[in-house]
Amino acid sequence: MQLELAGRGRGINQRVDLRPHAAYAPVMPSPPSLSVTVTVTLGARTLPIEQVRDARIASALSTAGREIGAKLAKIACSEHGRTASNVRIHFDARGNADLRYDSCCDALGKKIAASSR
Ligand SMILES: [Zn+2]
Repeated sequence: MQLELAGRGRGINQRVDLRPHAAYAPVMPSPPSLSVTVTVTLGARTLPIEQVRDARIASALSTAGREIGAKLAKIACSEHGRTASNVRIHFDARGNADLRYDSCCDALGKKIAASSR
């Protein structure tokens, strides 16, 4: 009888051990990142990245967009504590990136410009 209870106890403990993972999973903090709209000029057309059919190009551009978003998320205005918003990045036919964003003021713009030098 005692053995049986001990066995059940272990079973319960195991289940309890698993629960925190399930409970924490949805609230795991993801690294801060801003959403970035990526567009690219391919041939004569300018496309949002969602419409790029070439998977290699699409994945390279979305990676670049995510990196920019993660980087800008860490740069906050020293006056207002705000990050850039409405971030857009456009790649021209030669692969040059043109970054645009809205900022609360010049101080943030200067901070971002200084960090990308
Ligand atoms: Zn500001």
